Amino acid sequence: MLPETAAIHAGFEVDPVTRAVAVPIYQTVSYEFESAEHAASLFNLEVEGHRYGRISNPTTAVLERRMAALEGGLDAVCVSSGQAAVYFALVNLVSPGQNIVTVPQLYGTTHTLFAHILPDLGINGRFAKDSSPSSIAAQIDADTRAIYCESVGNPAGNIADIAALAEIAHAHDIPLIVDNTVATPILFRPIEHGADIVVHSLTKFLGGHGTTLGGVVIDAGRFNWKNEAERFPMFSKPDESYHGLIYHEHFGRAAYLGRLRSVYLRTIGATLSPFSAFLLLQGIESVAVRVDRHVDNTRYVAEFLQTDHRVAWVNYAGFSTNPYYKLAQRYFHGRVPSILTFGLHGGYEAGIRFYNALQLVRRVVNLGDSKSLACHPASTTHRQMNAQEQLSAGVRPETIRLSIGIEHIDDIITDLDQALSQATATEMQMPAAEALP
Ligand SMILES: *Cc1c(COP(=O)(O)O)cnc(C)c1O
Repeated sequence: MLPETAAIHAGFEVDPVTRAVAVPIYQTVSYEFESAEHAASLFNLEVEGHRYGRISNPTTAVLERRMAALEGGLDAVCVSSGQAAVYFALVNLVSPGQNIVTVPQLYGTTHTLFAHILPDLGINGRFAKDSSPSSIAAQIDADTRAIYCESVGNPAGNIADIAALAEIAHAHDIPLIVDNTVATPILFRPIEHGADIVVHSLTKFLGGHGTTLGGVVIDAGRFNWKNEAERFPMFSKPDESYHGLIYHEHFGRAAYLGRLRSVYLRTIGATLSPFSAFLLLQGIESVAVRVDRHVDNTRYVAEFLQTDHRVAWVNYAGFSTNPYYKLAQRYFHGRVPSILTFGLHGGYEAGIRFYNALQLVRRVVNLGDSKSLACHPASTTHRQMNAQEQLSAGVRPETIRLSIGIEHIDDIITDLDQALSQATATEMQMPAAEALP
């Protein structure tokens, strides 16, 4: 199935008991064992089946199969948020004293994870000076266990050269992990270009309506954990926490996800609720048509801002002057994902004035909603960073990040236009009462 079809059908067959065509919500915590012996063989992972709702659920399993199909992966594990997916994807393959090489332009909370939280666990996040393959290669040492990047960085809109990064990772016998949230599998499928593991915040374009948090880890099933037993002993040495299970013996190509579910989902419990899985499945059914509209509207907005004298700069990879234009052509065929950043003259104050003047476009920190959204990273998502970290993350004091929705383009432009007018009005034009509170 092509992605447009997989988004609607993959991973589900009409329910054999009820003949229900929509995916049923299995709102249950537990599943009855036929007998003590059956329970024992489930716990030994000898037979397939569900044991307990923290570990697996039939509704969530449909979402897992659908996401694996959309990304062209072997299998997937869903978790309660994108951030849980990022965290599990990393800690599943790295041990204290080791490191993961990443790029400076990352989703704000992921940056915090690498810069502060993982180091407290003895795991080093090594930031390359930029996202170029040579800068990333320069950070790899004998203790590196993965390269991590976002296919499209948030908020800077930087595009990673996934094929080049995969080649570097594999030359060092380590996997490439890619957060594909902003691109979605409709625009880009990292596994086709060599990525080993893909993570998503399902909260964004995939769910698509800003109602439901969720995350997923997808494994291409290609990385040979067995051959790399010295680097990744967790997959080939008996797990004492699981009566001596050896993951690659038991799960074969699915060892990575088998361990992620058996160790992290089971003991930390960042479980997606079945109702959330159902809502996310509803969103995914229309993701392909929504993404098309997001992409078209965003190009229109980028061109509007670019030609407007009130705007100082626009960062949009669809412009031939943009440093990521070539990668956008190569990997997205010019269908540039629908976040862009821009700035007005006048720094932080101008950014805030524009932000506060928006009426239709919502002031939020998320992205990938059917609604148009705006974020002022310097005062919100990137507030914990110092000025230098902000700059290398692609955040200037005046930066506004837009996530363009699927409303009528004329209404979006009208709102941006009036907010620009308000933000750039001189004090002379402002009512005296506002100028002198
Ligand atoms: C939102 C986001 C996350 C975190 O996802 P949540 O579902 O909010 O936890 C991770 N990566 C990227 C690129 C995101 O946009």
